[in-house]
Amino acid sequence: MGTPVIEIRGLHKAYGSLEVLKGVDLTAPRGHVVSLIGSSGSGKSTLLRCCNLLEDSQQGEIRFEGEAVRWKGEGLNRHPADRAQVTRIRTNLSMVFQQFNLWSHMTILQNVMEAPVTVLKRDPGEVEAKAREYLAKVGIADKADAWPAMLSGGQQQRAAIARALCMEPRALLFDEPTSALDPELEQEVIRVIKALAEEGRTMILVTHDMKLAADCSDHVIFLHQGLIEEEGPPERVFGAPQTARLRGFLSATA
Ligand code: ADP
Ligand code: MG
Repeated sequence: MGTPVIEIRGLHKAYGSLEVLKGVDLTAPRGHVVSLIGSSGSGKSTLLRCCNLLEDSQQGEIRFEGEAVRWKGEGLNRHPADRAQVTRIRTNLSMVFQQFNLWSHMTILQNVMEAPVTVLKRDPGEVEAKAREYLAKVGIADKADAWPAMLSGGQQQRAAIARALCMEPRALLFDEPTSALDPELEQEVIRVIKALAEEGRTMILVTHDMKLAADCSDHVIFLHQGLIEEEGPPERVFGAPQTARLRGFLSATA
């Protein structure tokens, strides 16, 4: 299996006096999909944001492809010590948010090309070819020259996925990618996520959609109040939950 793309050990995160993560471990091996489930407020988004260093954390280790994040300071003053390392990790872990956050003044193609050209300094001609490939992959090749406002929510989210893919990241991080969508539009995004899982992309997926988590995950983590209450393969987490809390959560979301 080799070195995991992301490995987190004993992560603690607080916002002031509010402890949100209380010692969490997470391993995302290459080619695997890890899903995070749990009630609202359990810390799923925070953990995802800690993975790509969008959030600081007070204690614990984060490794990206075996490379340990270097820190300076302690406790609430702990920050990554090396900006170049942060940039390298962040550009390799592309995030897809619940709200698609497309730039409204750019066409879909320009949205997808923007970061590879400006952040990664890639050749615009090559990036355009890639961008069109990824737009075709998510099924909206014909929308390249459209403005975001002209697209449905499902099409906008697929454009946001194409934009994340165009960075050619080592892993994709999804935070509730379908929860802003109407049910009929949800399906077109779910199909894209499943196809990405099947082609062996490394992904961490925060979702409220238990069927999606069951269908595409290699490993499922159930967070409860900032701690891992239970984790395992989807067959066991969904088929034979061990803890009363997970059983309660699953019956409430069914
Ligand atoms: P989830 O994604 O599982 O719903 P979050 O990670 O968003 O949970 O939030 C976990 C807890 O942290 C919640 O109590 C939330 O209110 C709190 N929280 C999240 N972001 C912030 C922030 N920027 N400042 C203060 N508290 C926050
Ligand atoms: Mg969240």
